Amino acid sequence: MRLQSLTDAVKANLSTGNIVQYNMQTQPLKIHWRSALCAAIIGLSALVAPPQYALAQTAPTAPVPQTKPAKKPPAPKPPEEDPEIKMGREAHAEMLRSGLRLVTDPALVSRVETIGKKITATANVTPLEARYGSSKLVPYDYKFFIVDDKDINAFSLPGGYIYVNKGLLNYIQSDDELAGVLGHEIIHAAHHHVMRLQKEQSKLNTQLLLGTLATLLARVPAGDALNLLQGFQLIAIQKVNGFGQDAERDADHGGLTVAAKSGYNPVGMLTFMERLERDQHLRPEIEWGIYRTHPPEKERVANITSQLNEMGVTINRRAVTNMFKVEVRTVAINKDVQAFEVLLDQKPLYRTSSNDRAKATAKKLDSVLDKDIQIYDVTKKGNEVFVRGESIVSIAAQDTDLPGSPKPDEVADAFYKRLRFALFRQGVESGI
Ligand SMILES: [Zn+2]
Repeated sequence: MRLQSLTDAVKANLSTGNIVQYNMQTQPLKIHWRSALCAAIIGLSALVAPPQYALAQTAPTAPVPQTKPAKKPPAPKPPEEDPEIKMGREAHAEMLRSGLRLVTDPALVSRVETIGKKITATANVTPLEARYGSSKLVPYDYKFFIVDDKDINAFSLPGGYIYVNKGLLNYIQSDDELAGVLGHEIIHAAHHHVMRLQKEQSKLNTQLLLGTLATLLARVPAGDALNLLQGFQLIAIQKVNGFGQDAERDADHGGLTVAAKSGYNPVGMLTFMERLERDQHLRPEIEWGIYRTHPPEKERVANITSQLNEMGVTINRRAVTNMFKVEVRTVAINKDVQAFEVLLDQKPLYRTSSNDRAKATAKKLDSVLDKDIQIYDVTKKGNEVFVRGESIVSIAAQDTDLPGSPKPDEVADAFYKRLRFALFRQGVESGI
């Protein structure tokens, strides 16, 4: 910015004939400023100097020395733009012309960019095995965009253009989940999937191609449809339908690896995928975008799980989602009596007159829930509830001295059943 304004100042002075005065009055400049000043002056002199033939016209009688002009060395060719970067850049511009709306909310943009840049810093220097496309390491200047669209969707263009929809940002429950999504999209670019797809283009079923494009065109303003058809068929297909199962598997595999290497909990990719699978059945009102036609989530969930196991990662879903939140809440029984309630996912498990007991129970529960427990891990003996043999609560006098309290075995029984039901519900919803 400073350099620019200095140049502008020089230009202004030059245009008013003040160049000498300007230089004289200026205090010693820092060296890089001074060289910038020189560059500006030289550049401007070249612009204002009349060309040779113009001089000859204004002084036709003056003898012009007939020396052969020195042969100029050929100007160095500008480096050719990487074809994938070019493709991405042009497709990006095309999408903007076609009415793609981007979100500029600084908080959202910064969240996506921070996570994205952290992952691309790894992806740009780490060779990651490509199971589809190519592992050739090309450091891209990755760019991240948020599309103003409620669909749960993300996509990428060759050369490092990465997009996530606002709908997806509202759907994810942690940075780790977003890192999984971004990692997936980054691998599509890093492993050059579009180039590989281009090679395979001739193999594509024409009918499928037309059908896919028809779907796309329904979502693009009519006037721009032709441009897309001509220039970006492959990208268009990818945007709507993904690359095909092999590429998606590679993007999941590489995305999980690169997110983990960048410091994110790779379980985020698993929980995101599990929730997608669950919600596609339970929440038909959501616009699923690309995830409608990605490979079956069940298979992806299975692949991600086995990769996490191979990596020796502990699968703690609570660390990367909002699930199984344990809280203690104060409840007024009447104007004189307070109770302390232990809640799991906002549903009460039991209440007690002792705040300390409620806190202790919540702490124990919190710790066992990190261990990926199942319904059958919860047991009950007398007035005591256990998880994997560890006592979570043993009903005491303080748990039954509240007005209207049930008997100790009833309190224990309710705790046991509610905990099991919470595990059952999460299991059904997550497909685990
Ligand atoms: Zn994908």
